Amino acid sequence: MQRRVEDQVLQRLVEISGRENVLSAGPAIEDYSHDMADYEGMPAVVVKPRSEQEVAEIVGLAHEAGLPILARGAGSSLTGAAVLQGSIVLDMRAMAKVIKVDTVNWYVQVQPGISLEDLNTELKASGFFFPPDPASSYICTVGGAIAEGSGGLTCVRYGTMKDWVMSLRVVLANGKVSRFGEPLAKNRAGYDLVHLFVGSEGTLGVITEACLKIIPLPTVKTRRFLVTFGDWESTGEVIRRLRSSKILPYLFEFLDRDNIQALNERLGMSLEEAEATLLVDVEEGEVEPATAIFRDCGANKITLAKDEDEAESFYQARAMAYLAVKSMASGVQVEDVSVPIDRLGEYLRFVKEVATRHGIRIPVNGHAGDGNVHPTILYDKVDERSGAAAKLAYEELCRKAIAMGGSVTAEHGVGVQKVRFLREQFLAHEGEEALRLMKEVKKVFDPDGVMNPGKYVEAA
Ligand SMILES: Cc1cc2nc3c(=O)[nH]c(=O)nc-3n(C[C@H](O)[C@H](O)[C@H](O)COP(=O)(O)OP(=O)(O)OC[C@H]3O[C@@H](n4cnc5c(N)ncnc54)[C@H](O)[C@@H]3O)c2cc1C
Repeated sequence: MQRRVEDQVLQRLVEISGRENVLSAGPAIEDYSHDMADYEGMPAVVVKPRSEQEVAEIVGLAHEAGLPILARGAGSSLTGAAVLQGSIVLDMRAMAKVIKVDTVNWYVQVQPGISLEDLNTELKASGFFFPPDPASSYICTVGGAIAEGSGGLTCVRYGTMKDWVMSLRVVLANGKVSRFGEPLAKNRAGYDLVHLFVGSEGTLGVITEACLKIIPLPTVKTRRFLVTFGDWESTGEVIRRLRSSKILPYLFEFLDRDNIQALNERLGMSLEEAEATLLVDVEEGEVEPATAIFRDCGANKITLAKDEDEAESFYQARAMAYLAVKSMASGVQVEDVSVPIDRLGEYLRFVKEVATRHGIRIPVNGHAGDGNVHPTILYDKVDERSGAAAKLAYEELCRKAIAMGGSVTAEHGVGVQKVRFLREQFLAHEGEEALRLMKEVKKVFDPDGVMNPGKYVEAA
C-alpha cells in the first residue's frame, strides 16, 4: 500500500527539484518498490536530485516532516537495503559526473550516481581504472557500492570498496553537509568517519561525492582459464596449492553444476557441465605452473581462453550466473557468507548436504579467492513446505558460517535479510559490546531515525 505524503511536502519537493524530478504515483514509482532479490517496500514519493544542495534541502524537509529517507542507486541490492515502505526515495543517478581525474595523486573525484562501469569507461581514457568489480558493475552506482561496502570478482587481487575510498562528502540526517577525509595518501586526523560510511547501507547519511583511489591500467598480460572438476575437494586443493605457490590470481571464481546448467538453459550458453568449475586469471608467466596445479588436482578439462572475446565470454558466464539461476524458481534467496579460505571446500560440501537433506536446490557460486560463497536457495513461493525448507536451509547455512569463524555477510550487506544472524554472529564472536557501540553510533548520526530506518545494525 502506498502511503501518501502531505500536499505541502509534495509541493516543497517540487519547488526544490522541479516537477519532472518528483514522482508520486504510477508505474514509475513501482520501479522503486523492489530490489533485485524481490524485497518489497512502496515509497511514498521518489525524487531525483541533481545537486548536493537539493539533497540537503530534501533531507532537511524530511527531518522536519518526520519522513524516512532512502538514498538509492540502481536498486541492485539483494538484501532489502534499497527499499523502504512509505519513504522519500532519493534516486541518486542524476548526480553522475566525474568531477576530476587526478593522474598524479591517483584519485578520481566523482558524484555518487555514476555506475562503476561508466566510471571505468571514463578512466580508461587516462590509462587508469577503479578495480572493485561487483558482478553488477554494469548498473550499480558508486554511492550504492560504497554504502554496501561491495566486493566482487577482482577482490582477490585488489580488495573491496573499503580499500579504495579516500574521502566523502555527505548530507547528514539533520540536512547539514560535511566532508569526511581528504584525497591524501596519508591522513590520520581524527576517527575514521570515511570508513564508518563504507558499508553503512544508507543508515547514517547520504553520500553526495567521493574521492576514490585509482591505479594505472595493468600492463602485465593475464590469461583466463576455465577449468572443470569432478568434485569440490579438488577445487579446495587448487586454492591451497595456488596460494602456497604464491600465485595470486587476478580473478578466482567458482560455479557449480546447477549454475552452469542454468546458464546453458536460460541464457543459451554452451558451457561444459561439471560438478565444479573454476574461472582463474593469472599472469602470462604463471600459465604453466597454474596448469600443472590444475592437472595435479585432477582437473577434467582445462581451457585457456584463446583470445579476449573468449575470455570475456567466460567472464560473462560468471557475471550472469545469478540472473540465470534466479529465473529457475518463483522463490529465490541469495546468500553471501564468508569462511576461512582454507575451509571453503568443507563449506561447499555442507551446502550440498543441506540441499539434499531439505530436498531443495541450492546452486552455489562465489569468489574462491576470498572464501566468499553465494548459495542461492531456490523454492516454490506457493508451496508452503518448500518455503519452510528454504527457511531452515538458510538458517543452517548462516549458523554453519558463524560456527566456522566466518561471517553471514561478505559483501552483500545486511539490509533486512540478515538482521537476526548479524546479532547471532556478534554474540558468537565476542562482539556484544561492538554491537552496542554500533547502535549508539547510529543514534549519534541519526537521533530521530529517518535514515533508512528499521534495518541493519539498528534492528539487530
Ligand atoms: C546480478 C547481481 C550481481 C551482483 N554481484 C555482486 C558482487 O559481485 N559483489 C557485491 O558486493 N554485490 C553484488 N551485488 C549486489 C549489489 O549490486 C551491490 O551491493 C551494489 O553495490 C549496490 O549498488 P546500487 O547502486 O544498486 O545500490 P542500491 O541497491 O540502490 O542501494 C544499496 C544500499 O546503498 C544505499 N545507498 C545507495 N546510494 C547511496 C548514497 N548515495 N548514499 C548513501 N547510501 C546510498 C542504499 O540506501 C542501500 O542501503 C550483485 C547484485 C546483482 C543483482
